[in-house]
Amino acid sequence: MDFVGDIYRPPSEAQSILLQITVGCSHNACTFCSMYKAKRFSVKSQETVFRDIDEAARLYQGIPRLFLCDGDAMVLSTEKLITILVRIRERMPWIRRISAYADSVSICRKSLEELKALKEHGLSLLYHGVESGSDTVLTSVNKGSSVADAIQAASLLREAHISHSVMFLLGLGGVKYSPEHAMNSGQLLSRINPTFASALTLTLVPGTPLYQNAQNGQFEPLEAFALVKELRTLLEHTQVTQCQFAANHASNYLPIKGRLPEDLPKMLATLDEILATRDNRKLVPEWMRGL
Ligand code: SF4
Repeated sequence: MDFVGDIYRPPSEAQSILLQITVGCSHNACTFCSMYKAKRFSVKSQETVFRDIDEAARLYQGIPRLFLCDGDAMVLSTEKLITILVRIRERMPWIRRISAYADSVSICRKSLEELKALKEHGLSLLYHGVESGSDTVLTSVNKGSSVADAIQAASLLREAHISHSVMFLLGLGGVKYSPEHAMNSGQLLSRINPTFASALTLTLVPGTPLYQNAQNGQFEPLEAFALVKELRTLLEHTQVTQCQFAANHASNYLPIKGRLPEDLPKMLATLDEILATRDNRKLVPEWMRGL
């Protein structure tokens, strides 16, 4: 398989076939993100992608899930994506789920008809990096999309029947915007009402502009219990009908997950207990946290 640079995928795609169809991220300007800094964005040739699909068909018979890398495969034209999806279906008819990362802008650039066509050809799940429900925070980290864009993207995906997994980033507003970030993110999650949602935790990575801001005092990061409090506030403001919520990514200090709304009281009670006791032993130690 032809892989350019480091490859990232959501934790829930650990067992999936990885097929890199673009290299890097076309935006690549979020101040907190280091994932694709070493890569210049490019679209892989059809020849390379088709060769990888043929190889995957030989190597991974029977594996039912496939994840399209890198950062925003949806930036490809619908025509190109459908050509790839058709080839996957031809060569690997056993695939049951095809997924990719997406951002609000690349989803909103597609019409409802295009998204429905992608769904018909097998695209079934998008991981959508919403990051925050606060436009102030999104602007401060140069996300390149707004809360309104996220709502529009969610609406399009719902109508196209593409499953939607939204990701928020705890700590992204720093101390200054923490209450707004947490409350607005819970409200945005309620408004989007997705099938899956997750909360990851900001890790300041050397070399990123946000790391530099923290070094020179322009950004004040949250300590571990303040991050737990942020998660508590986010959940407190969440009202969804049926959502699998996970905050158990390697970056989180307190792994927690559940089905919303039924598990919400239990999750809030767990967070309250941690906040009341401030027992460090119940948090993931710093050295065990990952990106
Ligand atoms: S957070 Fe997403 S959109 Fe922003 S630079 Fe990283 S991969 Fe690209």
